Amino acid sequence: MPNRDDCLQLDAHDPLAPLRAAFELPPSVVYLDGNSLGARPRAAAARAAQVVQQEWGEGLIRSWNSAGWFALPRRLGDRLAPLIGAGAGEVLVTDTTSVNLFKLLGALLRLQHERDARRRVIVSERGNFPTDLHIAQGLARMLRQGHELRLVDRAEDIPAALGDDVAVLMLTQVDYRTGALHDMAALTRLAHERGALALWDLAHSAGALPVDLRGADADAAVGCTYKYLNGGPGAPAFLWIAPRWQGVLETPLSGWWGHAEPFAMEPQYRPDAGIGRFLCGTQGIVSQALVECGLEVFERTDMAAVRHKSLALTDLFIALVEQRCGAHPLTLITPRQHERRGSQVSWQHPQGYAVMQALIGRGVIGDYREPGILRFGFTPLYTRFIDVWDAVEALRAVLDGEEWKQERFQVRTAVT
Ligand SMILES: *Cc1c(COP(=O)(O)O)cnc(C)c1O
Repeated sequence: MPNRDDCLQLDAHDPLAPLRAAFELPPSVVYLDGNSLGARPRAAAARAAQVVQQEWGEGLIRSWNSAGWFALPRRLGDRLAPLIGAGAGEVLVTDTTSVNLFKLLGALLRLQHERDARRRVIVSERGNFPTDLHIAQGLARMLRQGHELRLVDRAEDIPAALGDDVAVLMLTQVDYRTGALHDMAALTRLAHERGALALWDLAHSAGALPVDLRGADADAAVGCTYKYLNGGPGAPAFLWIAPRWQGVLETPLSGWWGHAEPFAMEPQYRPDAGIGRFLCGTQGIVSQALVECGLEVFERTDMAAVRHKSLALTDLFIALVEQRCGAHPLTLITPRQHERRGSQVSWQHPQGYAVMQALIGRGVIGDYREPGILRFGFTPLYTRFIDVWDAVEALRAVLDGEEWKQERFQVRTAVT
């Protein structure tokens, strides 16, 4: 079993180690929550100042053209595309993941309705992130055509749920609680065989592991930029549409930015011929501009290298926790097999919330999710092997010393 010096050696030989310098991280913190809010790229401070001072302050309205503001959602989409196995002109960075889900799910349901009006079921997992389910529920209610959300409790139950009434299989590739990774290509193939379309949420996979949307033959996808892509708090999300559906799918949020000629100011909506039709309205430029700083770091490596280190970090974390905290009631809920694991490790503990608060008190930042889940995200661009060691030692101290029993660690905050 590796010791602390071995971890330092692993860092010394890590080809991704130099990329950590591209991020601003407080020295006293071990940050294992990049799956919820990525760390800040150093370049983001200067970029924000440039957007606010020069582009907005001096350029004023001219910056929609001269600073490229108007083209930003497409330009960022093209830059993000290689990380998710997409091509140029297929991706937009815009709106939130929730809103993009609404647009794409609405578009796919309409397409299915035209092909076979009996297909009105959306299949997903009960454990999917709540907003994905809530958006589907709201859309089904609004359509008033008998649409419904059918939920399965286990991934193994997905095939049986794909009956001839199913319109869309809507899944998140990596489970936000357990870190379990779906086989996107196999499930997409199955959905297609059953006549359904496949919509993927990449919130915990974009920037975390190699994703191949085109290779998997998926139909559409959404994802966050503020998690593994380090775009900043509340940074706009992304959406992708398969080449075969470009110019075919119609967005239910037909705003003026999706019009073929927004500045023709026509009363009649006429969609853009390409991916641009999935824009809705004016973008939050300050936040959007910062997404580029996160993407730039990824251009200095490749996703195969990121994945290799991610698995090494999560393997090490699992092994060390089992060895050094083995006496405590921690249950691993993340799959051990590499091909089934994302870039996070989750443990269940009867006092999970208080344990996480005590860990954060020691400067080891992970997060907590119901029920009783300690969640640790590993972000190979800036997480070191020594961070894994130090995090496990802090966890051991919290558990051995029963630090979590302190009153102050029981208090619930609004965001966990
Ligand atoms: C984080 C996350 C979201 C977040 O959606 P927002 O609209 O950005 O709040 C959605 N879906 C999944 C699966 C997530 O993990």
